[in-house]
Amino acid sequence: KEITLGISACLTGQKVRYNGEHKRSGFVVNNLNRFFHLKPVCPEVEIGLGIPREPIRLVGTSDEDYGVKGSDDQTKDVTEPLIEFGKQTAHALERDISGYILMQKSPSCGMERVKIYHENGNPLGASGAGMFAKTLMENCPLLPVEEEGRLHDPVLRDNFFVRVYAWSRWQNEMR
Ligand code: SF4
Repeated sequence: KEITLGISACLTGQKVRYNGEHKRSGFVVNNLNRFFHLKPVCPEVEIGLGIPREPIRLVGTSDEDYGVKGSDDQTKDVTEPLIEFGKQTAHALERDISGYILMQKSPSCGMERVKIYHENGNPLGASGAGMFAKTLMENCPLLPVEEEGRLHDPVLRDNFFVRVYAWSRWQNEMR
């Protein structure tokens, strides 16, 4: 288990979701766990949101202009804390992790296709990336990143692992 992957903590079975539940992935816990060291991270807990907590969502005017606000309380804006934590994570883990597995559809962890809403609560008809994931990807553009849901596709899974092993080799050469 020499290779470490960052991972959305709820996928490992940690009860860190807004409703106090988890999103345990059998694939992660039964398979990936045997071959990789997994480093679970929950950005929403890390920025100080409690468990349970009010759900949050992407709110904005386009797929290039959005933030993260409380689903019920629009005055609760956690965009900046998630960006700041994303930058800190990128800086802290860039050398130590060789890939990152993200929880799909999350306004924090989703890699893509996360629904954006109008301030009035209606869907905008556009989508973006979760704010933590977006910041991580922008700050570590070469880091292999994939959503857990897509790892069930053998082609995407193989592609991800090839990138992880290649990145890990490069990291070792740089040490
Ligand atoms: Fe935490 Fe991300 Fe899982 Fe949401 S998707 S509970 S922010 S790890």
